[in-house]
Amino acid sequence: MARIALITGGMGGLGEAICIKMAALGYQVVTTHSPGNTKANEWLAGMEQQGYKFRAYPCDVADFESAQKCIAQITQELGPIDVLVNNAGITRDMTFKKMDKVNWDAVIKTNLDSVFNMTKPVCDGMVERGWGRIINISSVNGQKGAFGQTNYSAAKAGMHGFSKALALEVARKGVTVNTISPGYIGTKMVMAIPSDVLESKIIPQIPMGRLGKPEEVAGLVAYLASDEAAFLTGANIAINGGQHMY
Ligand code: NDP
Repeated sequence: MARIALITGGMGGLGEAICIKMAALGYQVVTTHSPGNTKANEWLAGMEQQGYKFRAYPCDVADFESAQKCIAQITQELGPIDVLVNNAGITRDMTFKKMDKVNWDAVIKTNLDSVFNMTKPVCDGMVERGWGRIINISSVNGQKGAFGQTNYSAAKAGMHGFSKALALEVARKGVTVNTISPGYIGTKMVMAIPSDVLESKIIPQIPMGRLGKPEEVAGLVAYLASDEAAFLTGANIAINGGQHMY
């Protein structure tokens, strides 16, 4: 039977590429969308036209109860989740001087609490079955910090601490936990940055002289999810065109 891969935020720029890659590799792909997302059915239909039959469930990843309910429903309808990709995320950028509690909380809850909320209801099952993959999508800005992103950088760095600690706890049980830290990837979000800003400020920071492709991140997710990656755990893998090395 096909392994089940749950990718949160699969309708976003990176998430869609991850869903497509995992489906191409034979996984049964399940994704989530925000409960208020009115375009979910349209997206599913568009994907089906391209030959991909995905399942999608409403879930507010920032809310523990919503996450629990969503995982319970997926497990009941399809079976246990083998691969969890914590990809859903938001930014609310502003300098720390302007940062208020609302925008701090929103980013921490959506990017970091979500990792707990989604991992908690799947991890014990993975351990019991002796196989599982948890892959957290962080960011280069969690590694190096970024102006105007105290909230986002804190949440993304926190994901890595989480991954290392949980990796230790489940290492003997066939479950790996890793973080991927992408640099600038050419998703709609990044392509919406004015082209002169991209050309003059962003691309020059990237030694490869270009943005990353969502498919390149998806390929790394696929590798981490594979049986070949069984010895790789607690790692934070940078994929940023050489923008930040450490
Ligand atoms: P998008 O904005 O395109 O997608 C984000 C996804 O997260 C959307 O599908 C959205 O779903 C979902 N989401 C947001 N909030 C919630 C919530 N409360 N509950 C459920 N789902 C939610 O972003 P990207 O694809 O560009 O980014 C994906 C991940 O990669 C993020 O974690 C981001 O931080 C990270 N990243 C991206 C980089 C880039 O260059 N693009 C670089 C480094 C990291 P919905 O639309 O239904 O709300």
